[in-house]
Amino acid sequence: MKLLSLLMIMCYGTLFSPASPKPQQNADSILPIRGFCIAAPVPKDVDRFIKFIEEELAPRSVNTLILRVDYNYQYRNHPELSDSVALSKKEVHKLVAVCKNNNIRIIPQVNLLGHQSWAGRIGNLLKVHPEFDETPKVKMPDKYVWPNADGLYCKSYCPLHPDVHKVVFDLIDEICDVFEAEAFHAGMDEVFYLGEAQCPRCSGRDKAELFAGEVRTIRDHLASSGRKLWIWGDRLIDGKTTGIGEWEASYNNTYRAVDMIPKDVIICDWHYERPDQTPVYFAMKGLSVVTCPYRNPGSAVMQARDMIKFRNNSTPEMKERFLGMVQTVWSGARQFLDSYYGKRPESTVNTPVNCFKALFSEIQNPAEAR
Ligand SMILES: [Zn+2]
Repeated sequence: MKLLSLLMIMCYGTLFSPASPKPQQNADSILPIRGFCIAAPVPKDVDRFIKFIEEELAPRSVNTLILRVDYNYQYRNHPELSDSVALSKKEVHKLVAVCKNNNIRIIPQVNLLGHQSWAGRIGNLLKVHPEFDETPKVKMPDKYVWPNADGLYCKSYCPLHPDVHKVVFDLIDEICDVFEAEAFHAGMDEVFYLGEAQCPRCSGRDKAELFAGEVRTIRDHLASSGRKLWIWGDRLIDGKTTGIGEWEASYNNTYRAVDMIPKDVIICDWHYERPDQTPVYFAMKGLSVVTCPYRNPGSAVMQARDMIKFRNNSTPEMKERFLGMVQTVWSGARQFLDSYYGKRPESTVNTPVNCFKALFSEIQNPAEAR
């Protein structure tokens, strides 16, 4: 037993050694998912972003790129929903090609259910289809402040509107096709408006069942073309019992959906200030999970160490659900690139740039292997 342990430690110690014959394979065994999530670049930043992929993501063994596309694509099925300046098919093909060359898979995101407005601005879906609005009586304010009397964080679409999925599925299919994607990220974070009294279809319904129903509807659509669904995990955590709060977890009774959604949905478990141990919760529910830090380098390093520890100290059944780490960036690509290349001065160490560097430094040379 001791000899076996020693052999395992010796093998483990060489996982990232330059002499190792298959470094990619070894990195995959430590953390199968090594991801980066950011808003898709606007057309004029595509070449800069490609340079960043080649020179910064690929050498760090990033293998998953979640691109928040939303309406930054010239949809052919629904041109009325595209932003006025949006990526062309040709520009997307350039992104796909460089990622393919570097063994990075792209997972495109269009934010569904919640996040249909931001601050005082309504999103394209509800602008074109106001009939999908879950809270039509809540008017967008001239000057947005939080908190506000309406409890308006972001608008949601009504998941029970009979016409909403026809439009949403068109977007999913087109964006997955053009990005040649095997998985799609539906967002679904911070859904505050759900099952509202003013909605004739949803009022009085169980919010956990409404949330789980929407997850299942999107998941089943993707499964029909062999694709997987990824979502953020916050609505599936009980914010009060855990003390995690109403942003990174749920105060609006959606958390029981964790037991109702299909087990092949991948959970992106985001925690930005503390290394909350919630990946264990998701894995014990039978769900695969990635941990997502943002701008706290110290916490991100602890989260990576936890993820590796969970994998090393679990049953085979649990281990395979601890998938890895995804660095999230919540600015646009341009702002991040400007910071990364020193064009924007930063006055604190807690930045996405520093978090990304610290996280991948730890992933490439994990404490347990040192
Ligand atoms: Zn509704």
